[in-house]
Amino acid sequence: MKRRVGIAGGGAAGMCAAIYAARSGAEVTIIEKNDCLGKKLSMTGNGRCNLTNLDLKSEYYNPSARRRMDGWIERYGAVDAIDFFRSLGVITRSEDGYIYPVSGQAQTVVNALKNELKRLGVTVIYKEQVKSIRREGDCYIIKTSESETEVDSCIISTGSLSGVKSTLSTGDGYYICSQLGMNIKDTYPALVGFKCAQDEIMPAQGVRCDCRVTFYLGKEVIATERGEVQLTKDTVSGIPVMQASRDIIQYVKNEGAVTAELDFFPDYGDKEFADLKEDMMALSDERSLSEFLLGFSNSNINEMILGRMKLSGDMKMKNIHRSMINCILDNYRALKIKLLSDSGYAASQVTKGGVSLGDITDDMSYKNDPGIFVTGELLDVDGRCGGYNLQWAWCSGKLAGVAAAGQK
Ligand SMILES: Cc1cc2nc3c(=O)[nH]c(=O)nc-3n(C[C@H](O)[C@H](O)[C@H](O)COP(=O)(O)OP(=O)(O)OC[C@H]3O[C@@H](n4cnc5c(N)ncnc54)[C@H](O)[C@@H]3O)c2cc1C
Repeated sequence: MKRRVGIAGGGAAGMCAAIYAARSGAEVTIIEKNDCLGKKLSMTGNGRCNLTNLDLKSEYYNPSARRRMDGWIERYGAVDAIDFFRSLGVITRSEDGYIYPVSGQAQTVVNALKNELKRLGVTVIYKEQVKSIRREGDCYIIKTSESETEVDSCIISTGSLSGVKSTLSTGDGYYICSQLGMNIKDTYPALVGFKCAQDEIMPAQGVRCDCRVTFYLGKEVIATERGEVQLTKDTVSGIPVMQASRDIIQYVKNEGAVTAELDFFPDYGDKEFADLKEDMMALSDERSLSEFLLGFSNSNINEMILGRMKLSGDMKMKNIHRSMINCILDNYRALKIKLLSDSGYAASQVTKGGVSLGDITDDMSYKNDPGIFVTGELLDVDGRCGGYNLQWAWCSGKLAGVAAAGQK
């Protein structure tokens, strides 16, 4: 008789696990609470789906996952994920190592996974929310609000708390796993932007520019990143902020404890910047301060900096003391913004924390009950932006799928 594998959650990890389990000879059922499979997956990579990265290293994951990640990467790396998608008919392309489907469409990836599930005869039950999993003899009963499904092994792939409302990311898996006795590490939104006081950045809303951002907890540097920062009327985000969020989020919970320092001239060393200021000051003449700064930086950034210094842009340059001009220009290298809170799970791309890896074997099964498996973001694994979180979904999905089907 075929081994019956039940999968709670039909997202990236759940669909991948289902395909590998079915290819390994199991009879597979996915129970998905949404009305479609892969809702979040279809939104990834700004709709383009950055599905893995050729530069795959354990150091791009959270410290508590790193020690074991090397072994997992060895068993299922970026090339394995690329080959998997090729087997589904999805050709990928590399943009500096960042891997996307050639179609440039995340929906291509979702459709290919769905077609393979169909081809393999995987049953999908839609719009049922898994509530609990219990053991009965050698079997497991997956209970939803409407039904009970008996299986020989069960994979929990219900994802995290991150994503917009329509993804139904409500973190159900944390409760299901804790009921089974697993330890859950505190969760935080990560790959997320931060709220700050409106009067600090409002005039610069809409600005996107290359910056080096250094994050301080008191006087201690806790993260530094470089890339395109985005400012809205009351949030600071963009890739460097999101990348750093994984390291700083727990400190931001203390309102105002973390300060972001923006350097709008990240390519300049101290000497080069001093020379640039000299060059600028040689231009001091009849013009107003606003006009003078136009040649230096974005007008919205100028307005923000002058507003924060409570200076009028109408002042004539010839009337401003050199030391004051120096002081204004120095702000472009070290503009401090206090972070008040994170922008929330709905705005985040990944959840930090989750099911402790201490409870999970190398094949993704629960140490105290080898018929239960956990995959994807529900686990205490979070990666940088760049395809690392989906890579983890494919890797953990594959290992769980094959093992749940009774293969190694
Ligand atoms: C906007 C955005 C962009 C992103 N872009 C990228 C990217 O380009 N590259 C990258 O690597 N990562 C990206 N990520 C992260 C990536 O999408 C996730 O890490 C990945 O989808 C996690 O896979 P998963 O299967 O664990 O969870 P999910 O994909 O969230 O799947 C979980 C599934 O379980 C279902 N479910 C939940 N609870 C229940 C229940 N009780 N019963 C039944 N079903 C349930 C959900 O409806 C969902 O279908 C992005 C995330 C977001 C939010």
